[in-house]
Amino acid sequence: MMRPLYRAGHCRLIQSAALSFLIAVTLINSCFSTLAQKGPNRRGSHTSHSRDALTPEAREMVELASAVVCKERIGDPKGSVPIDDMQGRPSLPVQSPEAVAGAKRAQRLLPIARNLVVVSLRQLARDYNLIGSKRSTLRIQRAIARVEAVRNVRPDVDSRDNASVFLKNPHTIIFGTIFLAGLPSDEGIISVLAHELVHIGDGGEDSLSSLFRALGNRSSQLTGLKIHGQRAEELTCDMVGMLVARAYVSATPSYEPLPRRISRSLEHNCVDQDEGDDDHLSPRSTIRALLTLSPTLSRELVLGR
Ligand SMILES: [Zn+2]
Repeated sequence: MMRPLYRAGHCRLIQSAALSFLIAVTLINSCFSTLAQKGPNRRGSHTSHSRDALTPEAREMVELASAVVCKERIGDPKGSVPIDDMQGRPSLPVQSPEAVAGAKRAQRLLPIARNLVVVSLRQLARDYNLIGSKRSTLRIQRAIARVEAVRNVRPDVDSRDNASVFLKNPHTIIFGTIFLAGLPSDEGIISVLAHELVHIGDGGEDSLSSLFRALGNRSSQLTGLKIHGQRAEELTCDMVGMLVARAYVSATPSYEPLPRRISRSLEHNCVDQDEGDDDHLSPRSTIRALLTLSPTLSRELVLGR
């Protein structure tokens, strides 16, 4: 059966060969409708159970760190464009200087992203106690093998402000030209590459479903939001994106402030129109959920070290 398509803070995973039809369906149903889906139902993600799992201090740290991310974006010449802003922009030709620069950056960063995703997946599998049995270890290994087989980034005008992977063509990440141009930093691009690589790792056999479930349950517990099914997968992809960008910052020291570099992996979520859907938390809730799961990163954002 055809798997649903994924818009993520701009991503789709497509499993069928009927590409043109699927792209149309994705764009209409998954991507652009997100901003149109307003009203009380969009708030239906909140559950009634308490948020006691997070201390008031920890919650305040997350709020402060989230504010840092969006403040850094404004002052950063390499700051990312928020995704609601990207959605309103006109199509960008593949040959435009910004798209060319973005595509080169993405292709250059792909091997690094692959390696860091593998490290991150192994770490998360350990953190969530998922390497107990032979079967679970094997599943992670198969996911890693798929990640390691990705070779290309293909810029695409029609994908606009999305990135996507087709399971029929699991060696290529398709990157919309508006998205490429809207992420003018290594940290921004590598976080999206890592996000897509996790989808590819999961593949058609759901090799990472245990990890998605564990991370979704944990973040549901901490935030009080409902993060299951597709939402859990998307949040895990975003989580790996953020962790990979953080690891990249460590591996490539510079004089730029640490909070500025970390923020670049998240700041495309600094939207004005903060709407989620069944498959995705809203962009700003995504920032908060990721930082809730990563107290160390929150502290680095707030304290600068
Ligand atoms: Zn995604």
